[in-house]
Amino acid sequence: MKYSDKMLKTPSSFIRNILKVTNAPDVISFAGGLPNPISFPIEEMQNSINHAIEENGAKLFQYSTTEGYLPLRQYIADKYKKDFGLQFDPEDILITTGSQQALQLISQVLLNKGEGIVMEEPGYLGAIQAFSLAEPQFYSVALEEDGLNAEQLEETLAANDNIKFIYTVPNFHNPTGITYSKEKREAIYEVVNKYDVVLIEDDPYGELRWNGEKLPYIGAGRLENSVLLGSFSKIVTPGMRLGYLVTKNKELMHHINTVKQATDLHTNIFSQMILHDYLASNDLESHVQKIISLYETQANAMLNAMAKYFPSSVKYTKPDGGMFIWVTLEEGTSALDFFDKAMKEKVAFVPGDPFYTDKTNVNTLRLNYTNSSPEIIEEGIKRLGKILYSLSAK
Ligand code: PMP
Repeated sequence: MKYSDKMLKTPSSFIRNILKVTNAPDVISFAGGLPNPISFPIEEMQNSINHAIEENGAKLFQYSTTEGYLPLRQYIADKYKKDFGLQFDPEDILITTGSQQALQLISQVLLNKGEGIVMEEPGYLGAIQAFSLAEPQFYSVALEEDGLNAEQLEETLAANDNIKFIYTVPNFHNPTGITYSKEKREAIYEVVNKYDVVLIEDDPYGELRWNGEKLPYIGAGRLENSVLLGSFSKIVTPGMRLGYLVTKNKELMHHINTVKQATDLHTNIFSQMILHDYLASNDLESHVQKIISLYETQANAMLNAMAKYFPSSVKYTKPDGGMFIWVTLEEGTSALDFFDKAMKEKVAFVPGDPFYTDKTNVNTLRLNYTNSSPEIIEEGIKRLGKILYSLSAK
């Protein structure tokens, strides 16, 4: 069979392939990126399912509007006002099938084949995958410990007028766990403001902060071509597939709405109504606080074990929230090779390769800490440390 060029250029999920080997019960896996299932509010959702059906009857089972359920959009608008003082109206908000769908919609609306996207290097591999379907040209800009390199961003934008948008994950970044500093946000805003490009801020992890203060967004609420993405996946449940896209740019929203309509008519209304009932009848803040405490304990267990068992030549990020730690091995050490050795010791992680658009056989890797107990985390890191010492002894 002859497939489309864009299909052949789109990477299949490396992580999914890895998860096939890492999901065996005796493997300690730091590979996935899943929320911990003990954080799902199952009982409360059971009540909300019953309650939402009692209240809304057939409406849960009928077709609905493309923009999404109005009370849910109002809830999101109110939350931005309360948390950030940002003034959004429900018309500025589109409910999407996870924030992943928003990535797909944006690239369809903005990109012709061969046009440019600025990507963080390293960047979210699900975004690389979603954008690849539009056959773009990727421009990598280095992600530093405090965010994108602003000078390199400026040079890249100045040199390439085919760039349509910049994709960022400003809080507890996937895969690195880093958060953009306030100064970096300001510097990036100043650069982006000079160019006719869209700035995407994808923020599924921002609420999972255990250290430091919540920071203002880079462009949301003040940049004309700003798109902010949010998600209920990491704070309530990913299985309901509920995310959202926020922009005050009405023309952009109109086009996104058209593509959304063509894609799936609307986001699952059954899920939207149940989630809204859950949010209206429970204290989301205290629920999120429980998730934060859980992940903080797990992150500390991993960081403490790394300090104890890893050679000092191995560098890693120390996140203030979110789900990931990014490890940089000694120059010249292959993370893929390390992965093969680790799998023999029954420990898994994601080698860095799929997080780059133009690099292979890198010396970086992603660790996830949200799915193992502190004891298991210590044991897994101990085994990895042993291999790392044997690698650096060569
Ligand atoms: N963006 C980032 C940065 C992510 O890490 C993820 C989930 N891994 C998503 C978007 C997609 O999340 P969802 O579709 O579940 O909202």
